[in-house]
Amino acid sequence: MMEKGSGGDANKRTREEQRRRDTMQAYAVIFGVLIAIMAITVYIMFLKKDVKTAETVQNNTSQSDSIDAGDADEGSDDDSDWEVIDDPDSEESTPEDNSSEPQKPDEDDHKIEVIEGRTYVDGILIVNKTYSLPSDYAPGILPEAQEAFDRMANDAWGDGLGLFICSGFRSYSEQRDLYDGYAMQRGVEEADRVSARAGYSEHQSGLAMDINSTDFEFEYTAEAKWLAEHCAEYGFIIRYPKGKEGVTGYAYEPWHIRYVGEDIAKEITEKGICLEEYLGVTSDYRYSKGQPLA
Ligand SMILES: [Zn+2]
Repeated sequence: MMEKGSGGDANKRTREEQRRRDTMQAYAVIFGVLIAIMAITVYIMFLKKDVKTAETVQNNTSQSDSIDAGDADEGSDDDSDWEVIDDPDSEESTPEDNSSEPQKPDEDDHKIEVIEGRTYVDGILIVNKTYSLPSDYAPGILPEAQEAFDRMANDAWGDGLGLFICSGFRSYSEQRDLYDGYAMQRGVEEADRVSARAGYSEHQSGLAMDINSTDFEFEYTAEAKWLAEHCAEYGFIIRYPKGKEGVTGYAYEPWHIRYVGEDIAKEITEKGICLEEYLGVTSDYRYSKGQPLA
């Protein structure tokens, strides 16, 4: 009886010890898992920080160095896997850039003339959110711009690529209808990012044209890459470059080119700047001159 009893106690003790050991093991496993989760979290945080730093470095170099449009384009394409992480950041930072006080026009260094309601800075017609055109100004596509486009399209064709004008000259009233359509669909704020108000569209100048497509996917086509690389040779600039939304007042448009003549186009492209920076002017409806804002 005693033996049985003590044997029972011994079994009980062994079972209790076993249970305690199991509990300890369970705690150890939970502790291990927690440590692993913390380690992963810290690792991800460092990784994000690295990406942000790299992004800042990239932005700084593209702003300060004179990279030509072709290089800048290739660079951004090669980094397409970064964009997945970058995109939310860049979208957050863009409105901040816009909301900052617009820079004061640097008018002293440049010769500004107003001829029949059109503003010329150093002899270059400027049409943007500050400078408008009279509502009756309707020249159609100007011959020098058409001739330059024809030569460019011909050479692109030689490289196996088809370029065509999908939207060239637009009159005041056509622009008004277009803008009103955007504003109805998407609201005024979004419409102002992608479309000009009547009188403020460069398409009314006869010097601007949209090539092939106004879909943002156009950026990734061979035609867009060719255009970015070569359009300056024919006197055109990509008018609303990537990263200049705060200066031009418009989202990046890889399809919208503006004729400025070969020398100026090459200089602007080589310096990696936009037309507003080149001419020292703003593009902001808060400074708007001429046409009343509809
Ligand atoms: Zn356009």
